[in-house]
Amino acid sequence: MGKRDLRAGQLDTRAVWAGEETYWAERATQVPVVHSVSFGYADVDEWYEVALGRREGHIYGRNTNPTVAALEEKVRVLEGAEAATSFSTGMAAISGTLLALLKPGDRVVSIKDTYGGTSKLFLEFLPRFQVAVALCDTGDHDAIEAEVAKGCTLLYLETPTNPTLKVLDIERLSAAGHRQGAIVVVDNTFATPVNQHPLRLGADLVVHSATKFLGGHADALGGILCGREDLVQQVFHFREINGATLHPEAAYLILRGLKTLGLRVRQQSRSALAIAQFLSEQPQVERVFYPGLPGHPLHEVAARQMEGFGGVLSFSLRGGFDAVRRFLPQLRLAHLAANLGAVETVAGPPRTTSHVELTEEERAALGIPEGLIRYSVGIEATEDLVADLAQALGKLSREG
Ligand SMILES: *Cc1c(COP(=O)(O)O)cnc(C)c1O
Repeated sequence: MGKRDLRAGQLDTRAVWAGEETYWAERATQVPVVHSVSFGYADVDEWYEVALGRREGHIYGRNTNPTVAALEEKVRVLEGAEAATSFSTGMAAISGTLLALLKPGDRVVSIKDTYGGTSKLFLEFLPRFQVAVALCDTGDHDAIEAEVAKGCTLLYLETPTNPTLKVLDIERLSAAGHRQGAIVVVDNTFATPVNQHPLRLGADLVVHSATKFLGGHADALGGILCGREDLVQQVFHFREINGATLHPEAAYLILRGLKTLGLRVRQQSRSALAIAQFLSEQPQVERVFYPGLPGHPLHEVAARQMEGFGGVLSFSLRGGFDAVRRFLPQLRLAHLAANLGAVETVAGPPRTTSHVELTEEERAALGIPEGLIRYSVGIEATEDLVADLAQALGKLSREG
């Protein structure tokens, strides 16, 4: 079977076919999970050619694996990237990218609202390697541009952010980064390639926690980096040595999850918007954070750079953490858990999820209300989720 030309395909078509155009051993239509740690060669000259990268093939599982390669190809096509490489987790992808591309004396500019683990890298680990880090208020584009203008090797963005769904203008900030010769990296975990294409907006690299929406079923950890070939190669070379390789079993689960990415994320984004609108009308709810609401401070930017507004929202309850403690166990259609982006709805307070790595003071400094709940919308029927939230809020006011 010849390779299908997928360049013109719609996202849903590419999600199904990319990386899977060829039949495998025994004419299997599905990508096999290749557990083999090594790949054998009868011919030493051929083996040497593969080792030098002059011929396609695999040698040792820490470096490359066919199942993992099929996944990387699928994500590469979905993001419209030149190259892609994968990692054991999202944090392995992010830390690998930073450690491979930075050196002492470099300066990173980013925002205060990055994912908790990323924020730890910026505040605790990079300074040990003499890499300077400037973290700006997330909504303040002028401040970010001013920091970039002072000198910037790498501009690290994340939008929408976790957990208060702040938005950054990728096109504007990428241009600012490039004026200083910076590498621009965007964490696209919350938006997914269904809703947002950072590379088209000017970024050089896109990073994903594939654990979330890409896999979509909360049964595999993984991370992906894609974008400019020369940079991805540099990071891949580091990952070969640092060893944070994605397991083929996890690669297969993520690959399978990806086939329904469009169906899932469009449904999740539609439901999230309906739920955000519903919650903003409830008296027990103090505030709703969702870029799809017209009241969101950067709704215009979100509407310009996103096709849908994503499957995650957050809201704060009147009554602080005490209200959260009483409210969450009343939800019938939600796991109270730390992940997001799954087919099931998942809810939890940031102090036990995204920002568990931070201290109470650090969370307060980020303006994360103690009554905040992050709500990751699953693929359940929208009206069932709204009804579930309504009954749980009803109990809250009765217990008052
Ligand atoms: C979960 C997450 C990460 C980290 O990914 P892991 O797979 O848990 O290591 C990074 N960025 C964002 C936005 C995330 O939600």
